[in-house]
Amino acid sequence: MRKRIIAGNWKMNKTMEDGLALASKVTNMAVDEVSSDVTMVMCTPAIHLSPVASITKDVTNVSVGAQNMSEHESGAYTGDLAADMIVSTGASFVIIGHSERREYHFETNQQLADRVKLAVTKGLTPLFCCGESLDTREANDHVNYVNTQLKESLFDLSAEDMKKVVIAYEPIWAIGTGVTASSDQAQEMHLSIRNSLAGQFGQEVANEISILYGGSMKPSNAQELLAQPDVDGGLIGGASLKARDFVDIAKSY
Ligand code: PEP
Repeated sequence: MRKRIIAGNWKMNKTMEDGLALASKVTNMAVDEVSSDVTMVMCTPAIHLSPVASITKDVTNVSVGAQNMSEHESGAYTGDLAADMIVSTGASFVIIGHSERREYHFETNQQLADRVKLAVTKGLTPLFCCGESLDTREANDHVNYVNTQLKESLFDLSAEDMKKVVIAYEPIWAIGTGVTASSDQAQEMHLSIRNSLAGQFGQEVANEISILYGGSMKPSNAQELLAQPDVDGGLIGGASLKARDFVDIAKSY
Protein backbone atom coordinates (compact mmCIF):
# COMPACT_ATOMS: atom_id res chain seq x y z
CA MET A 1 0.00 0.00 0.00
CA ARG A 2 1.23 3.50 -0.81
CA LYS A 3 2.26 5.67 2.12
CA ARG A 4 -0.18 8.46 2.98
CA ILE A 5 1.81 11.57 3.74
CA ILE A 6 0.78 15.00 4.99
CA ALA A 7 3.83 17.27 4.78
CA GLY A 8 4.00 20.87 5.91
CA ASN A 9 6.29 23.42 4.30
CA TRP A 10 6.94 26.22 6.78
CA LYS A 11 8.88 28.17 4.14
CA MET A 12 10.72 31.17 5.67
CA ASN A 13 8.43 31.50 8.68
CA LYS A 14 8.75 31.14 12.47
CA THR A 15 11.44 32.28 14.86
CA MET A 16 13.13 29.55 16.87
CA GLU A 17 10.71 30.01 19.77
CA ASP A 18 7.59 30.06 17.61
CA GLY A 19 8.78 27.13 15.51
CA LEU A 20 9.41 24.92 18.52
CA ALA A 21 6.02 25.82 19.98
CA LEU A 22 4.33 24.87 16.68
CA ALA A 23 6.29 21.61 16.40
CA SER A 24 5.38 20.61 19.97
CA LYS A 25 1.71 21.35 19.39
CA VAL A 26 1.59 19.42 16.11
CA THR A 27 3.41 16.45 17.63
CA ASN A 28 1.16 16.24 20.69
CA MET A 29 -2.00 16.57 18.61
CA ALA A 30 -0.75 13.98 16.12
CA VAL A 31 -0.20 11.46 18.93
CA ASP A 32 -3.72 11.99 20.25
CA GLU A 33 -5.67 12.43 17.03
CA VAL A 34 -3.99 11.23 13.83
CA SER A 35 -4.10 7.67 12.50
CA SER A 36 -0.76 5.88 12.66
CA ASP A 37 -1.21 5.09 8.92
CA VAL A 38 -0.65 8.75 8.09
CA THR A 39 2.91 10.08 8.13
CA MET A 40 3.13 13.76 9.05
CA VAL A 41 6.25 15.68 8.08
CA MET A 42 7.28 19.17 9.16
CA CYS A 43 9.65 20.74 6.61
CA THR A 44 11.23 23.51 8.61
CA PRO A 45 13.85 26.16 8.00
CA ALA A 46 17.36 24.74 8.50
CA ILE A 47 17.80 26.26 11.96
CA HIS A 48 14.80 24.35 13.33
CA LEU A 49 15.71 20.92 11.99
CA SER A 50 17.68 19.59 14.94
CA PRO A 51 15.45 20.80 17.81
CA VAL A 52 12.27 19.82 15.97
CA ALA A 53 13.74 16.36 15.32
CA SER A 54 14.31 16.07 19.09
CA ILE A 55 10.67 16.92 19.71
CA THR A 56 9.39 14.29 17.25
CA LYS A 57 11.97 11.56 17.83
CA ASP A 58 9.77 9.17 19.83
CA VAL A 59 6.72 9.62 17.61
CA THR A 60 6.80 7.16 14.74
CA ASN A 61 4.40 8.91 12.38
CA VAL A 62 5.78 12.45 12.70
CA SER A 63 8.99 13.25 10.82
CA VAL A 64 11.08 16.27 9.98
CA GLY A 65 12.31 17.48 6.60
CA ALA A 66 14.49 20.20 5.12
CA GLN A 67 13.25 22.55 2.41
CA ASN A 68 16.26 22.36 0.14
CA MET A 69 19.57 20.57 -0.31
CA SER A 70 22.78 21.09 -2.25
CA GLU A 71 23.78 18.73 -5.04
CA HIS A 72 27.34 18.96 -3.69
CA GLU A 73 28.51 16.75 -0.83
CA SER A 74 30.45 19.49 1.00
CA GLY A 75 32.81 22.37 0.37
CA ALA A 76 32.88 26.05 -0.55
CA TYR A 77 29.15 26.64 -1.13
CA THR A 78 28.32 29.44 1.30
CA GLY A 79 24.83 29.29 2.70
CA ASP A 80 23.99 25.87 1.26
CA LEU A 81 22.91 22.78 3.13
CA ALA A 82 24.51 19.37 2.55
CA ALA A 83 22.67 16.06 2.67
CA ASP A 84 24.93 14.79 5.47
CA MET A 85 24.11 17.87 7.55
CA ILE A 86 20.39 17.25 7.13
CA VAL A 87 20.81 13.60 8.11
CA SER A 88 22.87 14.60 11.16
CA THR A 89 19.97 16.66 12.53
CA GLY A 90 17.64 13.65 12.63
CA ALA A 91 15.56 14.86 9.67
CA SER A 92 14.57 12.21 7.15
CA PHE A 93 12.86 14.12 4.31
CA VAL A 94 13.95 16.92 2.02
CA ILE A 95 11.89 19.03 -0.39
CA ILE A 96 13.60 19.20 -3.77
CA GLY A 97 12.58 21.52 -6.59
CA HIS A 98 9.89 23.61 -4.92
CA SER A 99 8.58 26.12 -7.47
CA GLU A 100 9.78 29.02 -5.31
CA ARG A 101 13.32 27.63 -5.42
CA ARG A 102 13.03 27.00 -9.17
CA GLU A 103 11.81 30.57 -9.72
CA TYR A 104 13.96 32.62 -7.33
CA HIS A 105 17.12 30.50 -7.37
CA PHE A 106 16.98 29.31 -10.98
CA GLU A 107 17.26 25.64 -10.07
CA THR A 108 17.41 23.49 -13.19
CA ASN A 109 15.97 20.05 -13.87
CA GLN A 110 19.52 18.65 -14.11
CA GLN A 111 20.54 20.15 -10.76
CA LEU A 112 17.41 18.69 -9.21
CA ALA A 113 18.21 15.29 -10.73
CA ASP A 114 21.60 15.39 -8.99
CA ARG A 115 19.99 16.39 -5.70
CA VAL A 116 17.37 13.65 -5.81
CA LYS A 117 20.06 11.05 -6.51
CA LEU A 118 22.28 12.32 -3.69
CA ALA A 119 19.38 12.50 -1.23
CA VAL A 120 18.43 8.90 -1.93
CA THR A 121 22.05 7.78 -1.60
CA LYS A 122 22.23 9.46 1.80
CA GLY A 123 19.02 7.81 3.01
CA LEU A 124 16.81 10.92 2.83
CA THR A 125 13.35 10.77 1.25
CA PRO A 126 13.12 13.43 -1.45
CA LEU A 127 9.79 15.22 -1.77
CA PHE A 128 10.22 16.10 -5.43
CA CYS A 129 8.00 19.01 -6.52
CA CYS A 130 6.67 19.49 -10.03
CA GLY A 131 3.89 21.60 -11.50
CA GLU A 132 2.99 24.09 -14.17
CA SER A 133 2.39 27.83 -14.24
CA LEU A 134 -0.98 29.36 -15.13
CA ASP A 135 0.28 30.29 -18.62
CA THR A 136 1.30 26.71 -19.26
CA ARG A 137 -2.07 25.38 -18.11
CA GLU A 138 -3.95 27.93 -20.17
CA ALA A 139 -1.90 26.87 -23.19
CA ASN A 140 -3.02 23.29 -22.39
CA ASP A 141 0.61 22.21 -22.12
CA HIS A 142 0.54 21.17 -18.45
CA VAL A 143 0.78 17.41 -18.97
CA ASN A 144 3.70 17.76 -21.34
CA TYR A 145 5.43 20.30 -19.04
CA VAL A 146 5.21 18.13 -15.94
CA ASN A 147 6.30 15.06 -17.91
CA THR A 148 9.44 16.91 -18.95
CA GLN A 149 10.16 17.82 -15.32
CA LEU A 150 9.79 14.16 -14.32
CA LYS A 151 11.83 12.90 -17.24
CA GLU A 152 14.73 15.31 -16.75
CA SER A 153 14.96 14.99 -12.96
CA LEU A 154 13.85 11.43 -12.15
CA PHE A 155 14.13 9.11 -15.13
CA ASP A 156 17.84 8.40 -14.64
CA LEU A 157 17.11 6.75 -11.30
CA SER A 158 17.01 2.99 -10.95
CA ALA A 159 13.57 1.54 -10.25
CA GLU A 160 14.70 0.70 -6.70
CA ASP A 161 15.74 4.31 -6.06
CA MET A 162 12.60 5.69 -7.72
CA LYS A 163 10.52 3.82 -5.14
CA LYS A 164 12.24 5.90 -2.43
CA VAL A 165 11.05 9.20 -3.92
CA VAL A 166 7.80 10.99 -3.06
CA ILE A 167 6.36 13.31 -5.70
CA ALA A 168 4.41 16.47 -4.94
CA TYR A 169 2.30 17.83 -7.79
CA GLU A 170 1.98 21.54 -7.09
CA PRO A 171 0.37 23.69 -9.78
CA ILE A 172 2.11 27.04 -9.33
CA TRP A 173 -1.16 28.92 -9.85
CA ALA A 174 -2.54 27.24 -6.72
CA ILE A 175 0.40 27.86 -4.37
CA GLY A 176 -0.31 30.50 -1.76
CA THR A 177 -3.10 31.95 -3.90
CA GLY A 178 -6.12 30.48 -2.14
CA VAL A 179 -7.10 28.94 -5.49
CA THR A 180 -7.07 25.16 -5.28
CA ALA A 181 -7.04 22.73 -8.19
CA SER A 182 -10.40 20.98 -8.35
CA SER A 183 -10.34 17.37 -7.23
CA ASP A 184 -10.85 16.36 -10.90
CA GLN A 185 -7.90 18.49 -12.04
CA ALA A 186 -5.72 17.02 -9.28
CA GLN A 187 -6.75 13.44 -10.06
CA GLU A 188 -6.18 13.95 -13.79
CA MET A 189 -2.61 15.16 -13.21
CA HIS A 190 -1.79 12.57 -10.54
CA LEU A 191 -2.95 9.77 -12.83
CA SER A 192 -0.95 11.26 -15.69
CA ILE A 193 2.15 11.38 -13.44
CA ARG A 194 1.60 7.78 -12.37
CA ASN A 195 1.17 6.67 -15.99
CA SER A 196 4.35 8.46 -16.92
CA LEU A 197 6.22 6.70 -14.08
CA ALA A 198 4.70 3.39 -15.19
CA GLY A 199 5.96 3.96 -18.73
CA GLN A 200 9.50 4.41 -17.44
CA PHE A 201 9.70 2.16 -14.39
CA GLY A 202 6.79 -0.29 -14.80
CA GLN A 203 3.30 -0.26 -13.30
CA GLU A 204 4.33 -2.08 -10.13
CA VAL A 205 6.87 0.61 -9.24
CA ALA A 206 4.47 3.41 -10.20
CA ASN A 207 1.79 1.94 -7.94
CA GLU A 208 4.15 2.18 -4.96
CA ILE A 209 5.01 5.86 -5.33
CA SER A 210 3.14 8.37 -3.19
CA ILE A 211 2.04 11.43 -5.14
CA LEU A 212 1.02 14.39 -2.96
CA TYR A 213 -1.06 17.37 -4.02
CA GLY A 214 0.07 20.87 -3.05
CA GLY A 215 -1.61 24.23 -3.56
CA SER A 216 -3.84 25.96 -1.03
CA MET A 217 -4.87 22.72 0.66
CA LYS A 218 -6.77 23.42 3.88
CA PRO A 219 -9.17 21.61 6.21
CA SER A 220 -12.18 22.67 4.13
CA ASN A 221 -10.97 21.15 0.85
CA ALA A 222 -8.60 18.39 2.02
CA GLN A 223 -11.17 15.62 2.27
CA GLU A 224 -12.31 15.92 -1.34
CA LEU A 225 -8.76 16.12 -2.70
CA LEU A 226 -7.48 13.25 -0.54
CA ALA A 227 -10.42 11.06 -1.60
CA GLN A 228 -9.08 10.91 -5.17
CA PRO A 229 -7.58 7.49 -5.94
CA ASP A 230 -4.19 8.83 -7.06
CA VAL A 231 -3.83 11.56 -4.43
CA ASP A 232 -1.74 10.04 -1.65
CA GLY A 233 -1.40 13.06 0.59
CA GLY A 234 -0.63 16.74 0.60
CA LEU A 235 2.20 19.24 0.71
CA ILE A 236 0.84 22.16 2.66
CA GLY A 237 2.25 25.65 3.00
CA GLY A 238 0.10 28.26 4.73
CA ALA A 239 -2.14 25.84 6.61
CA SER A 240 0.86 24.00 8.08
CA LEU A 241 1.69 27.09 10.16
CA LYS A 242 -1.38 26.51 12.33
CA ALA A 243 -1.23 23.28 14.32
CA ARG A 244 -5.02 22.88 14.38
CA ASP A 245 -5.38 23.24 10.59
CA PHE A 246 -2.41 21.03 9.78
CA VAL A 247 -3.62 18.24 12.05
CA ASP A 248 -7.19 18.58 10.77
CA ILE A 249 -5.90 18.05 7.23
CA ALA A 250 -4.11 14.89 8.39
CA LYS A 251 -7.39 13.73 9.93
CA SER A 252 -9.26 14.23 6.64
CA TYR A 253 -8.49 10.73 5.37
C1 PEP B 1 3.65 25.01 -0.86
O1 PEP B 1 4.36 25.93 -0.56
O2 PEP B 1 4.17 23.93 -1.20
C2 PEP B 1 2.20 25.17 -0.81
C3 PEP B 1 1.45 24.22 -1.29
O3 PEP B 1 1.74 26.33 -0.25
P1 PEP B 1 0.20 26.70 0.08
O4 PEP B 1 -0.41 25.50 0.76
O5 PEP B 1 0.27 27.88 0.97
O6 PEP B 1 -0.48 26.97 -1.23
